[in-house]
Amino acid sequence: MKVNGFVKTNTPSVKINSNNNLNGAINTNGHDLIGDNHIGTSIDTPMRKGAFDLSDEQKMVIIEDKFRDIMDTLGLDLADDSLNGTPHRVAKMFVQEIFNGLNPENKPKISVFENKFNYGEMLVEKNINLNSTCEHHFLPIVGKAHVAYVSSGQVIGLSKINRIVDYFARRPQVQERLTVQIANELKRILRTEDVAVLIDAKHMCVSSRGIEDENSSTVTAEYGGIFKQKDRREEFLNYISLGS
Ligand SMILES: [Zn+2]
Repeated sequence: MKVNGFVKTNTPSVKINSNNNLNGAINTNGHDLIGDNHIGTSIDTPMRKGAFDLSDEQKMVIIEDKFRDIMDTLGLDLADDSLNGTPHRVAKMFVQEIFNGLNPENKPKISVFENKFNYGEMLVEKNINLNSTCEHHFLPIVGKAHVAYVSSGQVIGLSKINRIVDYFARRPQVQERLTVQIANELKRILRTEDVAVLIDAKHMCVSSRGIEDENSSTVTAEYGGIFKQKDRREEFLNYISLGS
């Protein structure tokens, strides 16, 4: 398997240009096509102005109300004991759990330490659990993230890498964007370009609806600095057992 830049294994391949946007795709296709093919439009999560003017509590009240309308529209009986708490549970889950990475206040505070051992080889943290949500269908993306970096003098606690992955995963996402957001944050914190991030994930919107392919997974990778070199990239892929 060739893993180089953005590679999709289950849908037509998506090329992201050097500006990391997909204006060409937007201009030539409709929004439905963009969503159905899981194409993102930018590396930053698209947020409107005033996204955090409301408190979490205010957002939960509004979402609960609107989700009750959705269920009612579907014809469900909200007076049923099994269903009447669902709008509140969904609102709480959206705001406090699966989308709480939208709010920059929830970004993990990461301390860096001096690389006292002068360890100069790559550090690989593999098989990090990844639970995210497809922004085109609001269905789960479930998989693994693999991260590597070479210290430029700074190191971070290993569990902090998991926390960074988790923070960016807790948003409506496009897998390519999630990959780059994690890489950029690690580059910023570690003050080095020598960062690699690879995500291998299944999209429930592909397995349980649409094409209904239960076996395919999507691989995306972002390689910075020395990881642009073939031998270092292959070393990383060998560590995570995805070598070519
Ligand atoms: Zn989707």
